[in-house]
Amino acid sequence: MKRDIQALLAEMTLEEKAGMCSGLDFWRLKGVERLGIPSIMVTDGPHGLRKQQGGTDHLGIFESVPATCFPSAAGMASSWDRELIGKVGEALGEECQAENVAVLLGPGANIKRSPLCGRNFEYFSEDPYLSSEMAASHINGVQSQGVGTSLKHFAVNNQEHRRMGVDAVVDERTLREIYLASFEGAVRKAQPWTVMSAYNKVNGTYASENPYLLTDILKDEWGHEGLVVTDWGANNNRVDGLAAGQELEMPSSGGVNDRKIVAAVQSGQLSEEVLDRAVERILNLIFKSVDNRKPEADYDRAEHHALARKVAGETMVLLKNEQSLLPLQQNRKLAVIGAFAQKPRYQGGGSSHIRPTQIDVPLEEIQRLAGDAASVAYAQGYPVDRDDTDESMLEQAIEAAKAADAAVIFAGLPDRYESEGYDRKHLRMPANQNQLIEAIAAVQSNVVVVLLCGSPVEMPWIGHAGAVLKAYLGGQAVGGAIADVLFGIVNPSGKLAETFPVKLSDNPSFLFFPGEGNRVEYREGIFVGYRYYDTKQVKPLFPFGHGLSYTSFAYSNLLLSRKEMRDTDTLEVQVTVQNTGTRAGKEIVQLYVRDVESTVMRPTKELKGFAKVDLQPGEATTVTLTLDKRSFAYYNVLLKDWHVESGQYEILIGRSSEDIALSDTLIVESTVKVKTKVERSTLLADLMSDPDRAPVVQGLIQSFQSGMGASMDSDALGEGMGEMFAEMMKYMPLRAMVSFSQGAFTDEMLDGLLAQLNQL
Ligand code: BGC
Repeated sequence: MKRDIQALLAEMTLEEKAGMCSGLDFWRLKGVERLGIPSIMVTDGPHGLRKQQGGTDHLGIFESVPATCFPSAAGMASSWDRELIGKVGEALGEECQAENVAVLLGPGANIKRSPLCGRNFEYFSEDPYLSSEMAASHINGVQSQGVGTSLKHFAVNNQEHRRMGVDAVVDERTLREIYLASFEGAVRKAQPWTVMSAYNKVNGTYASENPYLLTDILKDEWGHEGLVVTDWGANNNRVDGLAAGQELEMPSSGGVNDRKIVAAVQSGQLSEEVLDRAVERILNLIFKSVDNRKPEADYDRAEHHALARKVAGETMVLLKNEQSLLPLQQNRKLAVIGAFAQKPRYQGGGSSHIRPTQIDVPLEEIQRLAGDAASVAYAQGYPVDRDDTDESMLEQAIEAAKAADAAVIFAGLPDRYESEGYDRKHLRMPANQNQLIEAIAAVQSNVVVVLLCGSPVEMPWIGHAGAVLKAYLGGQAVGGAIADVLFGIVNPSGKLAETFPVKLSDNPSFLFFPGEGNRVEYREGIFVGYRYYDTKQVKPLFPFGHGLSYTSFAYSNLLLSRKEMRDTDTLEVQVTVQNTGTRAGKEIVQLYVRDVESTVMRPTKELKGFAKVDLQPGEATTVTLTLDKRSFAYYNVLLKDWHVESGQYEILIGRSSEDIALSDTLIVESTVKVKTKVERSTLLADLMSDPDRAPVVQGLIQSFQSGMGASMDSDALGEGMGEMFAEMMKYMPLRAMVSFSQGAFTDEMLDGLLAQLNQL
């Protein structure tokens, strides 16, 4: 139904308008009964619904209605599957409709700066392109059902430590290329109905009252049409927030901040137009939701559980598989070890913690698929609530492993290790689990380790495990999905969306995380994740993009649609992938771009495209990926824009960021001239690298050189001296020519030269 929002606004009193700008209670927006404006409900998110009916909280403490728990974002991103994530979004949207929820609070697009961030399980990746693509698919899926999303936590919210007070200090280029880019793609491609502003400060100003982030960038530059809602309790100064572009404060302020808005308008501190614009966006959200409401909606719980199982299977990453230990053969003697086999860890703690409709128990699912003649012994192996070893549990596990053909150990991180609200202190698994794995490997040569945790861990035992399957926090169907992968019913196809370092101190943010007091400086700059490991040549335990399959793939025929292009053109990259093994399988084709020679710091390579293909044995397909200006650009802080340097670029097609199968090069020509003002202190080198200015300066250097040469004795100008001289001159400022030319080049001549150069 078309409504005249402007007419509604005109009818509202100042108090009513101010009132709309904060919640009615913990989860609902206010309505205005006399004007027929209803109240709508929002709910966490992101990978399931946390609709609370009794007690309310933002920490996942009170019960919520049952809902399907899908894998959390860390796992979903490992699927690199836009379509699949879209399907999960659709299912989430259906559940929201069934529960009359207008907006689902997610997805989270914060970058995994440090593997220690307690909420990394809720975020997609260390790479902004992958993260934004996954977020966009999630948003499109949910919103296709007439339910809104809240892209969170905008922005630079990359740690839980002091999350409501910390000031994230980050340089402009890094902000743009890494931390904002992860949101930008999702906003531009999917228009989330809402964006949630983060708790923290960004470069000195709270994200929730940051005009640069909320208005200049989000609204004006990226064209966000929806509204900005604060994270729960993130509001600092309500009037500043509103002026900065934060429309809605959640939860309710109990009327306190509504009154402050009224007073600010009455005193002239805040223009009523600003308030009207905010209320307009809020009304648009409410009526969009009302118009898309499906009152009869319901969903099939079994169907959603089946989807959760399929998705979990796609998100798992086979990190290691020596001598084809996996898939397991049926009808063998298996020892299933580890408390998580009976009580899997499938979701993280905090606001995303939901009440699942059912839970698959891995041990039972393994028993179901192991074959009629199989024997499956179980031993708990370690206590979950403490880190020290329980000798009798360890002994029982060793005995079970000894008697089996293979041991499958379920390990990972207990709930207390990984949650919203605080960060991890180290990257280790509990000592009792590490000890268990070593002890089992000492008596059993076929050891499979299944890891249930939302982030990387150090694996001191990696040399002793034949196979490692990273199941992440795989949602309520994780048990069935693990069994599917272990027995080869599902061929694993996930690839890491984050680097697994050998040890914590290898991570680029290690020296600066989580900061000092209320300040964290992002001193590693753009070198986040593989951008660092790759460029610094620090060998990780498992690189970004890594993941094995039960089949093999061959890459051939890399073809670029052009070998030279301008930065305004697009480039099509084609590559053929063939399944060369005996099982059907999926491969994730990764495209990285490398700037061969650059005057600015750039990582060795950056992900700019990917596709997932599903191939039968022997089958081949040709993938086409399209690149544009952004694929070659860095953010130029002088231009305040994306810029491509003219020159050679490499197109790299990889199985992972480390395993590059094919490459080719092309020349990209910039259509933008970066002109800096020439001053007395400008270095000759900077003028020489500018094709318009170089000839002028070249002439000057030559006459300067010959002038000096005439006064030197001939021996001093021996072999190579000319070159040396030219090298030394490069870093001379223009003004030095005056002092060194002994009167031949005067101050007045320099002024004339500056005028001439600044025309070019
Ligand atoms: C979290 C958000 C969440 C909100 C509501 C906050 O503490 O940071 O992600 O959506 O609570 O529960």
